[in-house]
Parts: sequence; C-alpha cells; structure tokens
Amino acid sequence: MGAAEYRIIYCRECDCVIGRYNRKYYTDDRIGEVIRSQHGRHVREGHEIELRLSRGD
Ligand SMILES: [Zn+2]
Repeated sequence: MGAAEYRIIYCRECDCVIGRYNRKYYTDDRIGEVIRSQHGRHVREGHEIELRLSRGD
C-alpha cells in the first residue's frame, strides 16, 4: 500500500485550492460531477479550473 493519492481542484482565477479528494473514492468522472455540483460558481464565472495530483497521508 502506497500513500494515498489526492485530486486537488485548484482555481487559477481565485488562486486557491477549492477541493481535495481521495482518488480511492473519487474517479475522475466523479470529480467532474463534484466540480459541477459543488464548485459550479467558478465554472459559471468562467474561471479556469486545474486538476492536480498530490500524494499525502
Ligand atoms: Zn474561482
């Protein structure tokens, strides 16, 4: 078992991390849904969302 991998959802316009999800539980498809349902404000305002990968405990 390696360290857990996380998808970091980062908004370039707001210059902040808006979400962090364990890849064990969130597939990329699921992440896409989460962005639309929970972080839709950024998308609607035309912000550039970036997905990053992070390893951590
Ligand atoms: Zn934003």
